Amino acid sequence: MRSDTLSYAGAEEPHFLEACTLCSKQLGHNKDIFMYRGNTPFCSQECRQEQIDNDEARERRWKVSSKKSKESSKKSATVQTGTLVASN
Ligand SMILES: [Zn+2]
Repeated sequence: MRSDTLSYAGAEEPHFLEACTLCSKQLGHNKDIFMYRGNTPFCSQECRQEQIDNDEARERRWKVSSKKSKESSKKSATVQTGTLVASN
């Protein structure tokens, strides 16, 4: 065990990869990390999917409130987001 974990504050260490964004479960180097939108890590597909669902729901609401159009029947907005990072 090295003691440099204490000196991480203020360093350029990418702290956003430390824990699952949804459940805050710690992400280990040997475990698969499920990325979403490039820089949002999740511990599992389930957690990521929940975040995607949340985001889509929020975006849909935002679009509806900012744009009072009646094009609510558009179903082509399904986007495959997220990249499975299984290396290392
Ligand atoms: Zn999680």
